[in-house]
Amino acid sequence: MQGLFSQMKFLGHWRRALAIVWSSAPGFTIVWAIFLLVQGALPVAIVYLTKVVIDSIVAANAQGGNWDAVGDAVLYLALMGGTLLVAEVVKHLGGWIRAAQAESIADSISDMVHQQASRLDIVNYETPEYHDLMERARGESSGKPLELLESLGSSVRDGITVLAFAAILFSYAWWLPAVVILGAVPSLFVAFRLDRAYHRWWKSSSNKRRWASYFDAMLVHSDAAAEVRVFDLGRHFRNLYQGARRKIREEKLSHLRRQGLSRIAAGAFALVTAGGAVAWMAYRVLYGFASLGDLGVFYQIFSRGQSLVSSLLGSAGTVANNSLYLENLFDFLDLEPKIVGPEKPAPIFSRVSRSIRFRSVDFSYPGATRPALTDFDLELPANSVTALVGVNGAGKSTVVKLLLRFYDPDQGSVSIDGTDLRNFDPVELRRRMSVLFQFPMQYHARAGESIALGAADIESDDERVLDSSVNAGAHEFISGLPDGYETLLGKWFVDGAELSGGEWQRLALARAFYRRAPIVILDEPTSFMDSWSEADWFQRLRRMTEGRTGLLITHRFSIAKRADIIHVIDRGRILESGSHSELVRSGGAYSASWDEQMRLEGERANYGT
Ligand code: ADP
Repeated sequence: MQGLFSQMKFLGHWRRALAIVWSSAPGFTIVWAIFLLVQGALPVAIVYLTKVVIDSIVAANAQGGNWDAVGDAVLYLALMGGTLLVAEVVKHLGGWIRAAQAESIADSISDMVHQQASRLDIVNYETPEYHDLMERARGESSGKPLELLESLGSSVRDGITVLAFAAILFSYAWWLPAVVILGAVPSLFVAFRLDRAYHRWWKSSSNKRRWASYFDAMLVHSDAAAEVRVFDLGRHFRNLYQGARRKIREEKLSHLRRQGLSRIAAGAFALVTAGGAVAWMAYRVLYGFASLGDLGVFYQIFSRGQSLVSSLLGSAGTVANNSLYLENLFDFLDLEPKIVGPEKPAPIFSRVSRSIRFRSVDFSYPGATRPALTDFDLELPANSVTALVGVNGAGKSTVVKLLLRFYDPDQGSVSIDGTDLRNFDPVELRRRMSVLFQFPMQYHARAGESIALGAADIESDDERVLDSSVNAGAHEFISGLPDGYETLLGKWFVDGAELSGGEWQRLALARAFYRRAPIVILDEPTSFMDSWSEADWFQRLRRMTEGRTGLLITHRFSIAKRADIIHVIDRGRILESGSHSELVRSGGAYSASWDEQMRLEGERANYGT
């Protein structure tokens, strides 16, 4: 019963894989199918023509070069030549079609994987199982739909030829087709059993492969380049990479060696059975029971038939094992995000009219031993800037992640004007938020384009780009770039210009301005700024949050003090709240940290740093 069930599941995989192939390249697939039928029929035509050619030459010889008989022989020879030519053309054209088909299908599958990866919940990126699954879906699995089609195709093509060969053999003796099949049985075993073992190894080794690509990334990625040089880690990572690869290589080669040896043994067995059959026919020719043409037919059928049957069985094995790989791809494509909107989402707000509220929120990250937020209450009033301050690990970024609905609270709720975030469509909800992250992405795009990415859902607007750039204080340095707003940023590609940390951050600020969202979140926005430009920064942030609802996360009190209300957060709870002067006056944690920070600033000023 279970076997039947898994077979049905495999059938489902095949159907799905073939649907992908069909929808990615329907034209190529039709031509490919026609070629397949032709390729199936051609070997039979060649075998038959061999017999006719040999017999006609023998007849012409027997008739002492009679012109009619010679003419027949020449005609059959010409036919043979023509058929061989067609076979050659079909083979090469088929190769080209296959390449074109492979490209289209690979691109379609990549697109599916990319679409799925960008749709899934962020929490997935925090589990090694997800990365393993992704690695398998992107690795060998992605080529499998085409391989499945090809294996099915070659099964059909070889099947046609084998059936025709079997019919010819049957006309000589009923037991001959059985000999061909018997000779191929060991190959069948190799194809099924050993390929399956290889797949099991491949699946279980995805974690090892990811380690190898991690070490590789440490050596080739620009992000790691500086530290790798400073700490002289090149040799260290090379050793680790080579060590990981050595293990993978040895395991893989041992599988391939076993497969290779078994294939040799299976091939030798097939050869022995074929040899027996040909010897039988030679005996018959010798004693006049059959013609030389018959021997030719026999030789051809057995020399090609055996390999055909093995390849047929091999393709059948590949078709069966393909499902194992396809399962990885489909497992990945079938993952469903948990952070979704209801069937009928609440109408999305255009601005916050009252407030954003966190009410009795408990939240722990998956697998974490201690909660990031406990019984957490927070109100962000509309049209004002609220600052959250606290030490590292206090839970500030977690508040942002819950607000962006990257996660849902375990208990309690987050709501905007009384509507729980879970009632909105998450994509629409995020469109209403502009975020300036502490480490914004450094997109390798033209400067203007990079700003317009702030609202990729609308058509790029040059005036809005300029306006955002001026507001963010990015206009000056962008104007100074070789091609102004048309300058390519980043050093990965030719003619790219590199920016400083502060400039990248201003560019990200421009992107946030460009979005013009009613909720603005600033997560440590000034981490790259020197304190001299802090006042300037806050002016700009203030402008961006004007008439909007702002949340400012910072550990700098000089920035936090300018917010309308400040909450001090510690170990997932609000410790104290108020305006800057209220908090300083109250003499609590804020006041103590403020004094400390001011003392340090003073010392720094005295030492001229
Ligand atoms: P802050 O922004 O104030 O520095 P966070 O909100 O990032 O603090 O972190 C709050 C707590 O949650 C910390 O104990 C941190 O270690 C933990 N944490 C943060 N992100 C994750 C995560 N992705 N998985 C597990 N724990 C996390």
